[in-house]
Amino acid sequence: MDFFFCLPIMIGCPTKIKPDGDQSPRICPRCHNGAMFAAKSRTWFEFCFVPLIPMKSRHVWMCGICQLQVAMQPGWEPPVAHPGYQHPGQTVGGPAPNGYGYQPTYTQQQK
Ligand SMILES: [Zn+2]
Repeated sequence: MDFFFCLPIMIGCPTKIKPDGDQSPRICPRCHNGAMFAAKSRTWFEFCFVPLIPMKSRHVWMCGICQLQVAMQPGWEPPVAHPGYQHPGQTVGGPAPNGYGYQPTYTQQQK
């Protein structure tokens, strides 16, 4: 019995992000979370999901929350997130105000 082993050929150029350099958390300019770190973005020539040839790489700032990537440029870097830094708009605990209000339980009009 003939058996045809058909291997689909997959070629792609995915970009892989790797933490690189200074790993102190930075504040993301978009989502304002202290989840930005230095990373190296490298595009690979990939054959059948096996990375073969590194194509090009660049240094970026990468946000772990909103996935924002900013290319590193001289003269600008995201501000360092201090320990205990909290998102300015973050609500910490507490019950949300819900629709408590005046509710007439008994309404009767008499003449
Ligand atoms: Zn972000």
